[in-house]
Amino acid sequence: MNHSALVRYFEPPPLLHMMQHLIAEPSVSSVSATWDHSNAGVIDLLADWLNGMGFQVQKLAVPGHPGKFNLVASAGNGSDGLVLAGHTDTVPFDESRWHSDPFVLTEKDGRLHGLGSADMKGFFALVLEALRDLDLTRLKHPLVILATADEESSMSGARALAESGRSLGKYALIGEPTGLRPVRLHKGIAMECIRLTGRSGHSSNPALGNNALEGMSLVLSEIIRWRQELEQRYRNPLFEVATPTVNLGHIHGGDNPNRICGQCELHIDIRPLPGMDLDSLREELDQRLAQQLQSTGLKLERQSLFGGVPAFETAVSAAIVQAAEELTGHSAEAVAFGTEGPFLQQLGMDTLIMGPGSIDQAHQPDEFLAMDQINPGIDIIKQLVQQFCLS
Ligand SMILES: [Zn+2]
Repeated sequence: MNHSALVRYFEPPPLLHMMQHLIAEPSVSSVSATWDHSNAGVIDLLADWLNGMGFQVQKLAVPGHPGKFNLVASAGNGSDGLVLAGHTDTVPFDESRWHSDPFVLTEKDGRLHGLGSADMKGFFALVLEALRDLDLTRLKHPLVILATADEESSMSGARALAESGRSLGKYALIGEPTGLRPVRLHKGIAMECIRLTGRSGHSSNPALGNNALEGMSLVLSEIIRWRQELEQRYRNPLFEVATPTVNLGHIHGGDNPNRICGQCELHIDIRPLPGMDLDSLREELDQRLAQQLQSTGLKLERQSLFGGVPAFETAVSAAIVQAAEELTGHSAEAVAFGTEGPFLQQLGMDTLIMGPGSIDQAHQPDEFLAMDQINPGIDIIKQLVQQFCLS
């Protein structure tokens, strides 16, 4: 008996068992502390199973986010290879709108219900199922399973990885629910808070104050003008909404009809097309607003409500896109939701978004993964591993 025969590996549990366990571990991520959970439970399950299968497993604490972890499980050597990536967290949920316990995997009418079933704990179960019989000693290029924290809130997990600059592979598949159709573009998103501060005073004499609400009317008009210009400047017909968008989402100012409004705050979201840089957009906005307000004497502050997610595009010619298009018979598309794709791209990986389940069910009560997505999903993962790691 040679030495390697003595190394004992463990099979992961059956597929539905894995899904059951993953969904039973709460891992809500939210910018609101009352909802936010640690994702350690999900990470530890994946770490155990992957470790048992012979992967080298690293659980990485996300700096500045106690209780949050990324997982990197790798096998094989080299600087190329394939990364199968997903997020471990879910959105918060409204239990009263669910017809089953969100943390209990419940099968009904060919659907597996549970919080995270489609978005996207189910993907990990499919990945492990696809790799169950893989002999890791046969890998010619590395295979990495990446599980991240906080995709649904701050993207702190993917951000930390991008900042680490760590090389993980040459190609990445992110298994977000796309109904197993390949996606290679999405818009970015930034959320900005614009605050004007003037001086309150009795409404009977305008000279007693400086009205922030009136200043905000200049801001609103300027943002709408800016939006029209952006629509002229940028256009990508691959997107359902072919132009960048800017939404006026929230405003609050003042307290009484008979008091001059001393402070007013506006929240907007900006969704740029690929090729538009978030920081340049913020700078442009700052300059335009400063110019509008220069003679008002109002104090202007702009603050990003979160770090933002850059727009994302992988070239149609990339091998991972070509492979996915061939395997599925669908051309790679653009979608309206953001992903960790741009952060994996920053690590030098050609990244494709494609996974089982529908985005229509994500973030919804009674979220489910249609069972007819399971075998095709496993098959696609197996074939990508075959193409990028075994040949
Ligand atoms: Zn997701």
